[in-house]
Amino acid sequence: MTSGAPEKRRLTILGSTGSIGTNTLDVIRQLGGRDAFEIAALTGNGNVALLAEQAKATGAELAVTADEGQYENLKAALAGTGIEVAAGRNGLIEAAQRDAGWVMAAIVGTAGLAPTLAAARRGADIALANKECLVSAGDLFVAAVHAGGGKLLPVDSEHNAIYQVLEEHQRHAVERIILTASGGPFRQSTLTEMRDVTAATARAHPNWSMGLKISIDSASMFNKALEMIEAKHLFGMRPDQIEVIVHPQSVIHSMVGYSDGSVLAQLGCPDMRTAIGYALSHPARPALNVERLDFAKLSRLDFEAPDEERFPALRLARLAMERGGMQSAVLNGAKEVALEAFIDGRLGFLQMAEVTETVMDAMIAVPAASGMDAVFAVDGEARRIAKTIVEHEAAAA
Ligand code: NAD
Ligand code: MG
Repeated sequence: MTSGAPEKRRLTILGSTGSIGTNTLDVIRQLGGRDAFEIAALTGNGNVALLAEQAKATGAELAVTADEGQYENLKAALAGTGIEVAAGRNGLIEAAQRDAGWVMAAIVGTAGLAPTLAAARRGADIALANKECLVSAGDLFVAAVHAGGGKLLPVDSEHNAIYQVLEEHQRHAVERIILTASGGPFRQSTLTEMRDVTAATARAHPNWSMGLKISIDSASMFNKALEMIEAKHLFGMRPDQIEVIVHPQSVIHSMVGYSDGSVLAQLGCPDMRTAIGYALSHPARPALNVERLDFAKLSRLDFEAPDEERFPALRLARLAMERGGMQSAVLNGAKEVALEAFIDGRLGFLQMAEVTETVMDAMIAVPAASGMDAVFAVDGEARRIAKTIVEHEAAAA
């Protein structure tokens, strides 16, 4: 571009019907809608009514439901619009491979891995919300991004914050990164109280409004565990350079500590649209209608060390990083099974970490990933073992 109006960005949103997906569409509206963005493809899962509505509103070329059983419903909802329709795993890959320069990766869980990888391989710039890509397949995923030649822009608020304050020319002087954690709804609960919590209480996050799974992962701090591993791959940090501090107000979104004792932080109201807007506008900084921080009203910021006895997920993340190989993929696969069992009421809150650690110990010998097939095989095996343990626990209860 020479001058005048900024270049129109062609974008695909993987997971447009979720929390990040709908926030992304709001940011796009704020940044000029169809004048600023052209939507190549949108994908969802069971919620085809919303997906169809989004596709019509944005003028998307292609709408994909991951749920093959919903194909006919999506087709009917978009009949006569000229919008193409596809479904299932192949449909997701087709969406990821469309010639969009930008892809928002906002599918939840390991389901996002294959399509996001397909987008990375063809060189798309990726706004990455799906942290599971980096947890399960970190080295391979980063290598695929580099080989494709696209940019990787973190959307996770902590990593987006670090990206904003990590000065590239002073990278050698970075001593540590400090991930902030709200502490979730059970920050002040006792172990005994935590034993009996249900999904309904665990999903009620004090500061952030997010999807169901990540909200519960925040309550158990498994979300922060995944984020430690995510940070290792995004910023090339050693595990001992990654710290976690509980900061209940969620105003400081994360920090970078330098060799002169300086600590740089990014602050803001807890609203994912700031991180989404930053990623989708990079390298420019967009104008967004989000709440501004009022420091007088805020008056104080609190910090406390995380309690790894009540939140063992943090210890498990460190263990996975120390053990190396595909232990992080094992952690993630086992955790996803345990999380689903907790949501269904088949497993206790604290048992999610117990199941995950048992599976990690059972699969301690897995080597580093030779390729994506190995990652999917290990993920599948971790899930199989986790399911067996969950069934055993449910039968014993
Ligand atoms: P969500 O549950 O609200 O939405 C998930 C999206 O993925 C939906 O569009 C859904 O249709 C789709 N989906 C679900 N299962 C699928 C499957 N099996 N195959 C294909 N698509 C499927 O989740 P979310 O909160 O928006 O989170 C999305 C990702 O972003 C997660 O990886 C999460 O960890 C990460 N993230 C979210 C937030 C947040 O504020 N919500 C913050 C940081 C990171
Ligand atoms: Mg986060």
